[in-house]
Amino acid sequence: MSAIRRLPETLVNRIAAGEVVERPAAAIKELLENSLDAGATKIEVILREGGQALIRITDNGCGMTPDELSLAVERHATSKLPSDDLLEINSFGFRGEALPSIGAVSRLSITSRARGSDTAWQINVEGGEISSPRPAALNEGTQVEVRDLFYATPARLKFLKSVRSESDAAREAIERLALAHADVDFTLQEDDRRPVRFKAMTRELVGEGNTVLSRIGEVLGGDFIDNMVKVEAEREGVSVSGYAGLPTFHRPTTREQYLFVNNRPVRDKVLLAAVRGAYGDTIPSGRNPAVVLYLNLPPKEVDVNVHPAKAEVRFRNNQLVRNVIVTAVRQALRDAGQFTTSALAPQAIRMMQNPVPEVRGYSEPNISQLWEAMPPSVRSASLSFDVPNNVGRLGAAVAQLYNTFIISQTTDSIIIIDQHAAHERIVYEKMKQALDVGGIKRQMLLIPEVVDMDETSSRRLLSKAEELAECGIVVEPFGGAVMVREVPEIFGQTDVKEMLKDLAEEMAEYEKSGSVREEMEKIMATMACHGSVRAGRSMNVDEMNSLLRQMEQTANSGQCNHGRPTYVELKRSDLEKLFDR
Ligand code: ADP
Ligand code: MG
Repeated sequence: MSAIRRLPETLVNRIAAGEVVERPAAAIKELLENSLDAGATKIEVILREGGQALIRITDNGCGMTPDELSLAVERHATSKLPSDDLLEINSFGFRGEALPSIGAVSRLSITSRARGSDTAWQINVEGGEISSPRPAALNEGTQVEVRDLFYATPARLKFLKSVRSESDAAREAIERLALAHADVDFTLQEDDRRPVRFKAMTRELVGEGNTVLSRIGEVLGGDFIDNMVKVEAEREGVSVSGYAGLPTFHRPTTREQYLFVNNRPVRDKVLLAAVRGAYGDTIPSGRNPAVVLYLNLPPKEVDVNVHPAKAEVRFRNNQLVRNVIVTAVRQALRDAGQFTTSALAPQAIRMMQNPVPEVRGYSEPNISQLWEAMPPSVRSASLSFDVPNNVGRLGAAVAQLYNTFIISQTTDSIIIIDQHAAHERIVYEKMKQALDVGGIKRQMLLIPEVVDMDETSSRRLLSKAEELAECGIVVEPFGGAVMVREVPEIFGQTDVKEMLKDLAEEMAEYEKSGSVREEMEKIMATMACHGSVRAGRSMNVDEMNSLLRQMEQTANSGQCNHGRPTYVELKRSDLEKLFDR
């Protein structure tokens, strides 16, 4: 082993750079945060090759004097901890690491003119070598230029992804900060990509209280605005506000989960898990909700100094933070529980407008065939129908089609309900409730059902006999097979064999998943699917109406247990549009 020694400053900075500026987007984020900390109201970003060749950020913030410039590129030099108190951090920065780290691995040039001064000064850092400041030309504010990022650390260069994905990451960094600062003007220009412009949303422009919402619309687009509900709650000094996408507006990744802690964009595990928990089984597995949530709490309740890129934080009270988010989001969604995504209506209309593509094995029936097919399967109360005044949100049932869909009419819309999906959610929510208040009531089968299955499956099922019993289904070994003695009372006619086979199959997957409760919820979801009205069963008008009324009283009834929509609503105005009225 060689002798122990202090590492040279440049090497120390390069090591720090490994964490702080992991990729171009991270450098961009640090520089934007500096501009915001400097009070800028206008920030311009120019990138070449996804930021690797050039990042140029110009702001109109407070600027720096020549002395400050020299200090700024030194390690652990910061203007942001005036009281030396790590528990009172009110700025994005505080570590004093970003500029020296970037300077250690690139060709960095900072030009700045302090507010009120009439000259600008420039300083250069190349591979860690710092020049002395010299006069330059610039308006009030600061321009930071980073060229050839990572040229000094070729190993890191090799790990960079494609220009396109670096550029995507940069856009994401800008979007996240833009959502935290609705009153700041952001622009981004790149080689051959569409420029980005987020106009400053001032009160004068969009009115008091609308600045954040308008910015969200700019960043996430109108689709999100049409498909979200407002979230607002406060408990023990922890408050959350923002917007939660409807469960039916689910996304392939968590990218559209924008989370802020005291206005700092974070990708924190506790928060991500809380969001997932809040949506629970209303989202199909493998899909993710879209949210913009601003969490505010006293700085002393959160430690932001736990992650070099400041993406994660530590809360003093994780449980409280989680509860506030879960409760607030659930409440907001429950209040909106009756609304499926508005994206569905235009989609349905489009399907009606465009000629339906021919499906293999199925050809478009002509009108007379349709007409012949209708009478036996349409069960209608009357043909011309008035909606009673006091009918619920989901209207009055008018007809059942194909023994699968219920058509109902409200005062200003028609609703098409998937009877199975809807009933499945009702049964499931009832089971969950029953489980919470002393267990699910069971009924004995007159003749116990013996279900043959392979050994692994039956062993798996029997090993969960206790949980299954709590969920209302009593099984015991019967030779190599499984015998079912009792099923939940709320189940009508159920194909017990099919249910058991499904349960066995899906349990193979449950084993990997979390808590007992989660497992039981999955068991119940599978059971509910079997214990509810199947597609293909005819229902009379009273049964249909009773289903609608139950839906109105059931949480999350806009989605089935698999996250699929249970109904589509077409507004009268949508219908009128369809006919060019
Ligand atoms: P930190 O932001 O943690 O303080 P940085 O290395 O990012 O560390 O920046 C060091 C210092 O340089 C900051 O504290 C600030 O005083 C100054 N500075 C950096 N960027 C700007 C800017 N765009 N405008 C004004 N001052 C800046
Ligand atoms: Mg900084």
